[in-house]
Order: sequence, then C-alpha cells, then structure tokens
Amino acid sequence: MVLRPLAAIRLSMPVVLNADLFQWRTAERVMPVIWNPLLQSCEELACDACGAGGFEFSLEVGGREEAPDRGMSLRCGDCGATADTR
Ligand SMILES: [Zn+2]
Repeated sequence: MVLRPLAAIRLSMPVVLNADLFQWRTAERVMPVIWNPLLQSCEELACDACGAGGFEFSLEVGGREEAPDRGMSLRCGDCGATADTR
C-alpha cells in the first residue's frame, strides 16, 4: 500500500517576533524569539555549531567581533560541553 498526498496547504499567519539583545563586553548577539500561534509555543533556536534545535543553550564568547555573530555564538548542550573541555 502506497500513501500519496491528496493536498497541500500553505498558511500565511502572523507570528510574534521578539528580539533580545545579549551583551558581554564588546561582544553582542541579537536572539530572535518567535511565538508560533499554530504550534502554541515558541520556535526552537538553532545551534551555531551543529544546527540542532532546542530551547536550552549557552552563549560562547569569542571569535571576531566583525563576524555575523558579533563574537558571541549560540551552543547547544552537546557543543557547549565540548567547548568547555577544550
Ligand atoms: Zn550544537
């Protein structure tokens, strides 16, 4: 038995976007927090190192301040733990 899609739905709906600014000395990062009314929850953030989604992260300070992340990277639990052991 093969299941085939019968229809596709494209939704356009408003979401709530909040941008929070985190700063440590000269490093800074704007973190977007998006409330999705369809899911009735916030959307997950992606780890800068591995791309994994989640709600618990650490911010790693370092790197170039001219870089897109302005010297502050978002790390998931696994990548943050790896960075701590370096
Ligand atoms: Zn990660």
